[in-house]
Amino acid sequence: MRTPRKTKILATLGPATESPEMIRQLIEAGANIFRLNMSHASHDWSRQVVATIREMSAACDQSVAILVDLQGPSIRTGDVDGKLKIEPGCVVEFRNADLEPGESLSVTTNYSGLSEDVNVGDVMLVDNGEIHFKVTQQQPGRLVCEALTEGSMGSRRHINLPGVRVNLPALTKKDLLDIKLAAELDVDFVAISFVRDAEHIRYLRTQLAEVDFQAKIVAKIEDQEAVRNLSAIIDETDAVMVARGDLGIEVHIEELPVVQRTILKECARIGRKVIVATHMLESMIENPVPTRAEITDVANAVFEQADAVMLSGETSVGQYPVKCIEVLDRITRRIEQEPGAGFCEALELRTEKQHSVRSAVVLANSLKDSKLIIFTVRGVLANYTAHQRPVHAPIFAFSPSDKVVRALNMNRSVVPFEMQFADSPESTIRNAMEFLKDRNFVEAGDPCVILSDVLNQDFDTEAILLRKA
Ligand code: PGA
Ligand code: MN
Repeated sequence: MRTPRKTKILATLGPATESPEMIRQLIEAGANIFRLNMSHASHDWSRQVVATIREMSAACDQSVAILVDLQGPSIRTGDVDGKLKIEPGCVVEFRNADLEPGESLSVTTNYSGLSEDVNVGDVMLVDNGEIHFKVTQQQPGRLVCEALTEGSMGSRRHINLPGVRVNLPALTKKDLLDIKLAAELDVDFVAISFVRDAEHIRYLRTQLAEVDFQAKIVAKIEDQEAVRNLSAIIDETDAVMVARGDLGIEVHIEELPVVQRTILKECARIGRKVIVATHMLESMIENPVPTRAEITDVANAVFEQADAVMLSGETSVGQYPVKCIEVLDRITRRIEQEPGAGFCEALELRTEKQHSVRSAVVLANSLKDSKLIIFTVRGVLANYTAHQRPVHAPIFAFSPSDKVVRALNMNRSVVPFEMQFADSPESTIRNAMEFLKDRNFVEAGDPCVILSDVLNQDFDTEAILLRKA
């Protein structure tokens, strides 16, 4: 019998994985969600790749979700000739693009409010946190800084400002154009980068509504301000990404695991999907095997209840994209068998429907080899069931909507299938059982807990049934 993996795998696509053949191999290896990173992806490339994903998903008879990751308000250096060589103690000026360079080494930035947001004494980190500067003078449109470390600074390097409250809008002009594209392509998730408070999520939601587009929102937690406003952000969003790439630069390194754990606990408690992202298998960009630390990091995410683990450079530009998925598949499956890997200390159940789902999950937990089978129109019942983290039972979710099915690919433990419901509840249940038996997901005699809020012609709403397969 086939035991589905609970933890979902999200793979970022890029030059290494844009071909139909690679996308097919990633789906076959177990990728559940593909990410298009709008910091790098052009619109034409995105259109092409989305068409390929849809084609390969149909060819493999395997639904996958697509996530468009908006670049958001990222601060970057402008163009420099070649690379600037930086030594500790050297003076570098960061200036607005419309100003002439001063006497020292000088670079422009794309954010004209930089000199107002930052104060003398603040630290600026450039190029993935590698080159450290301390601000020594603040002038209108200019910051004079002293380098604290050495490095070489190229064009369009990312600038991180740990602890600084940045006055940038939640979405840039580019983001608004990328939202239109996401709507055109009808993707399933839109991720908002550098979200700083819950208001930013509400703003994104109104922008999605403007283009009449219903996508689930992923809030990327990447800086200290987001950490301060964590519970409001988690409450407002559909899903959260622990964006450790930037977060690991913006907070002190020893805080990173603590912040990760806090986010995962809160998401598990109130039922928000959560993705652990960045550097999960970083060494596998160049090597065919992971480090011991990476193996343990992936395992930790599973122990901490992540819905999904994410690959970035590993699959977008790496040399072993398919191997990376296989490695994640092996580690997550093994850890999911450990007691405690599906356990949630505290659950907040807010609605009556969530309480009735509780009965089904408790029942499934008490029966050996049980399966949860959900019939859901909008996906809500499947979301609620996944939130309650059944200990061993997989959640097979049937919906007539392909969009609902695609989005359920992010929920821990949910295996979603598209199915039109028959005229009678009896036939719908029988069809679903046959479907699962044919695919070897259930065996005769398995106890199946059936949950539905749509088959209510003959049953009470939110019927919970126990059947033998
Ligand atoms: P990015 O986001 O890859 O778009 O920067 C993820 C992260 O910062 O971890
Ligand atoms: Mn980031």
